[in-house]
Amino acid sequence: MTTVLEPAAVESLQASFLGDVIRPGDATYDDARMIWNGHIDRRPAVIARCRGVADVIAAVRFAREHDLPAAVRCGGHAVAGHALCDDGIVIDLSSMTGSRVDPLAQTIRVEGGCLGEHLDRESQAFGLATTGGIVSHTGVAGLTLGGGIGHLMRKFGLSIDSLRSCDVVTAEGELLVASEDENPDLFWGLRGGGGNFGIATSFEFQLYPLGPTVLAGMLAWPMDAAPEVLRFLRDFVADAPDEVGIMGNLRLAPPLPVIPEELHGKPIVALVPIYAGSLEEGEEALRPLRNLGTPAVDAVVPKPYVAHQKMFDPALPHGRHYYWKSHKLGPLDDDVIDVVVDRAGQITSPLSSIPIFTQGGAVGRIPEDATAFPNRNAAHDINIVASWMPDEPEPDRHMEWVRGFFGALEPFSKGVYVNFTNDDPAERVRSGAYNPEQWSRLVSLKAKYDPTNFFRFNANIPPGDGR
Ligand SMILES: Cc1cc2nc3c(=O)[nH]c(=O)nc-3n(C[C@H](O)[C@H](O)[C@H](O)COP(=O)(O)OP(=O)(O)OC[C@H]3O[C@@H](n4cnc5c(N)ncnc54)[C@H](O)[C@@H]3O)c2cc1C
Repeated sequence: MTTVLEPAAVESLQASFLGDVIRPGDATYDDARMIWNGHIDRRPAVIARCRGVADVIAAVRFAREHDLPAAVRCGGHAVAGHALCDDGIVIDLSSMTGSRVDPLAQTIRVEGGCLGEHLDRESQAFGLATTGGIVSHTGVAGLTLGGGIGHLMRKFGLSIDSLRSCDVVTAEGELLVASEDENPDLFWGLRGGGGNFGIATSFEFQLYPLGPTVLAGMLAWPMDAAPEVLRFLRDFVADAPDEVGIMGNLRLAPPLPVIPEELHGKPIVALVPIYAGSLEEGEEALRPLRNLGTPAVDAVVPKPYVAHQKMFDPALPHGRHYYWKSHKLGPLDDDVIDVVVDRAGQITSPLSSIPIFTQGGAVGRIPEDATAFPNRNAAHDINIVASWMPDEPEPDRHMEWVRGFFGALEPFSKGVYVNFTNDDPAERVRSGAYNPEQWSRLVSLKAKYDPTNFFRFNANIPPGDGR
């Protein structure tokens, strides 16, 4: 049942607030409680849509005063629905999308509600970029606080590796700066520890020259070629230059003009490369992909970096229903490939997909204890993503496919990327998403910065749970 806050209490919040305070019964309430995963249906008592740091502070203090559970929202992409809670307050930063590039210092500061598309658009106006996710409507906040993997990571590292500082509103409603120089312990925890320590109201990133035109795109083959393509991926990335970012993706071919009609609806395996350097060097570096058998699709072309960053957007829209599970993996040995090809062949929905991210390069060169992101030497990250329409009569079969696939890969698991956790048990966050040293350091930080576990709608690090 939805908590009914006294109208006077909500009015007092509204009076001290620049943004919108949205309640059940308001015309905008149902839209405001929609997040990316349409499978999540929660009814907060109040949604505080902040317009600035003062609003975030006011919302935190209001939540404490009224003892309300508090969820924090940026892009609303957490598949488990962490951006929403029942009967509590949603501190919603999605209207805070301002940013400023310093072209001389090659940095950008983005507000805590920015999406990837905001960061990319502003940076690319100056021919600059940094690592972000592969879907442009993902929130910079959630993505970065968990680590941030993407097309450029082999060249520039994870998103957190380019993070220079954050402004953070704590569980007490105080504003702190976190950087290597100020509150460095907090800064360490923010780089992998998720939203456990406070609300980041802004992020400053280092940027690097890139594009605006890059050689990038997709090649695809019928699924019969998947063993050969995945073995190629394993061998190719073992000594590819850092400039090569590359993912695999397995799914049923969508009816896109770029894909031959006879393949529509049929299982395919794709490689999605980018070359973070000159077009000429890129042609040379990516040529082996074009020469791999006979690709049914070769759409690797010079194109705007921002277009590549949006390439997967239509395949993963807001409002559809989703369920996923994920593993980090080592190099794709033949046993892993056999499982992946076999389980991909049992896919249950034309909307589901199996992206395989490739780490390596700069990701693995940062010392493991420099941030709260573990398994930097894992070679890949596989996410088994089921998706179906809201009116699907049998959603369970899609979730069962994910669970079966996930279970079959468990013997090869090298842990899990915290941002790809979902309904994983607490023990998997503790021992799969962090190494033991990181976990005990994170637990101590939690006890220092959030001893009451005010920020608990996340892959939770409980205070006082040290090893
Ligand atoms: C379609 C899709 C594509 C993805 N692709 C990638 C990818 O390429 N690379 C990658 O690394 N990850 C990727 N992810 C995973 C993504 O990083 C996580 O889902 C992440 O949590 C999304 O962040 P968000 O801000 O959009 O989500 P939200 O659901 O709004 O927030 C996620 C978590 O962060 C907390 N949070 C949100 N804003 C703040 C803030 N300002 N301060 C403190 N805490 C906050 C929330 O409370 C919640 O616990 C993808 C997810 C989706 C759905």
